[in-house]
Amino acid sequence: MNKEELQKMRHSCAHLLAAAVQKMYPDAKFGVGPAVDNGFYYDISLPQTISESDLKSIEKTMKKLTNHKLEMVREEMSLDDAVKFFQDKDQDFKVELLKDLKERGTTKVGEDLSDEVDLENPDQVSIYHTGEFADLCRGPHVDHIGETGVFKLIKVAGAYWRGDDSKAQMQRIYGVCFTTKEELSEYQAMIEEAKKRDHRKIIKDLDLVTFSELVGPGLPLWTPRGTIVRNALNDFVWSLRKQYGYEEVTIPHITKKDLYETSGHWEKFKDDLFKIVTREGHEFAMKPMNCPHHTQIFAAQQRSYRDLPQRYAETTMVYRDEQTGELSGLSRVRSITQDDAHVFCRESQVRTEAFKIWNIVEAFYGQFGFDLRIRLSAHDPENMKAYLGSVEQWDNNVEILKTWMDERGTKDYEYGVGEAAFYGPKVDFIAKDAIGREWQVATIQVDRHMPERFGLKCINEDGAEEPVVMVHAAIMGAIERFAAVLIEHTAGSLPMWAMPEQVRLVPVSDDFVKYASEIERQLKEVDVRVMIDASAEGVGKKIRKAAMEKVPWTVVIGEKEEQGGSFVVNVFGDEKDLGIAQDVFVDEVLKCSKIPQVDLPEVE
Ligand SMILES: [Zn+2]
Ligand SMILES: [Zn+2]
Repeated sequence: MNKEELQKMRHSCAHLLAAAVQKMYPDAKFGVGPAVDNGFYYDISLPQTISESDLKSIEKTMKKLTNHKLEMVREEMSLDDAVKFFQDKDQDFKVELLKDLKERGTTKVGEDLSDEVDLENPDQVSIYHTGEFADLCRGPHVDHIGETGVFKLIKVAGAYWRGDDSKAQMQRIYGVCFTTKEELSEYQAMIEEAKKRDHRKIIKDLDLVTFSELVGPGLPLWTPRGTIVRNALNDFVWSLRKQYGYEEVTIPHITKKDLYETSGHWEKFKDDLFKIVTREGHEFAMKPMNCPHHTQIFAAQQRSYRDLPQRYAETTMVYRDEQTGELSGLSRVRSITQDDAHVFCRESQVRTEAFKIWNIVEAFYGQFGFDLRIRLSAHDPENMKAYLGSVEQWDNNVEILKTWMDERGTKDYEYGVGEAAFYGPKVDFIAKDAIGREWQVATIQVDRHMPERFGLKCINEDGAEEPVVMVHAAIMGAIERFAAVLIEHTAGSLPMWAMPEQVRLVPVSDDFVKYASEIERQLKEVDVRVMIDASAEGVGKKIRKAAMEKVPWTVVIGEKEEQGGSFVVNVFGDEKDLGIAQDVFVDEVLKCSKIPQVDLPEVE
């Protein structure tokens, strides 16, 4: 089944859900019911609260309805007739949508209405009947309700009407829907596995990150152990960047309003900005991104073409006033650490710089065993008002990215219509994790827009001013989000070089603590993160404790070892122990505990 047919089936399943709810709760008022990844939802307003067991009964009713194989019948109506139709049924939300549509006219219809109406023909709407249930919808749907696949209702959550917290509170019922039973059970197994890997639990268990009521939601506090992880990941990125000539810069976390007015962020980000008024009454803001500040380092001097590219990189926090309800663990936070970089270069250097970033991205994600998929995120020719520049410029820039794909041998890349940034197309990297979930991770964005707004130029060979291009080049993107993805990908067992504790020494009794301390000293001397478990517990218990804490290497120290026998290393996640002679032990530890050395190729 292709993507469109799957969408059609899942969306039709939302109608089926609503039909079942209406049968069981005749007072229900319906909002919207779109298809989403893996399934669908419907926002419904009800006087009573839907419980988990209610979901089971609703699901039963849905299944009964599918047996009738009711057709989904389309009926065309004028806008005014449709208003009357839904008024008679007391469906206030549908009436509101229709009235809104009438007032705003075609061109101003927002995204929230685009599913319900045909923009080409806004005076005419379509109603779909499924037995006694009727819904405002433009379709398409499956032919009859028996074709809604294998579905399951999974949860109910609160949602505001049209996502606006000043509007009615509704109940959002979520379901999943697949073509076969096997796909559904695979999905359920994946969800079970994902629960076990939930980073919000693991960061607590491993003492990496904490949150404080006093500090506020969405503001993670990284513990000493968590900070080791962050720094290790960041050092690895830097080890790659340095090979391509990136230089570190440092900027303040606030700025005058003027910077963002020039960049356009004041307008674009106005709801997300943390604003500050100084004692002298000047308006400042916490930075939501670093690009505008970095332009000013470039702009501080007259640049000759010989000085280019300038490659600025910095790991620094940005701040966005996300809505409290949207915050989640490390995946969505208000203080976001970006491993951000910007390359200022000539048009003729863009390809080389982009390929260097591409190499860094592949080396970085490859190290963790992520499969990377690439998307060329292009404009939507039908919706050019969403972008800066002419359709010819866009077609041209997209063509360039296509030649890059060929050159890199990226044959089966996805072509994402309408996925571009408003100022230009981009190359997006999508990582598949150990349980098959996909995450958009890094991105290469070529930006001619911001340099223009800031008037960034270089002096070329002819002594004339030439506009420069800016390439945005974050590798992890946000460290918080990347850490969440990596922790779930590895179930908390990060590569040894990124773990806060790398080696645990377990003396079998007090008599061997002294010898263990000698080994500890040798390892600490070469910066290995090692600890001794000198507690009075038995060896078995100590080993289990180390495994709970996912310590990569655990070494038992007893009489045999004290007399110079090989160490037996219990490697986390491996069935078989590792025997290592004492004279090479430190070297063997270092092979796994240091930031990996990856040599990047030259780019022509
Ligand atoms: Zn529909
Ligand atoms: Zn940027």
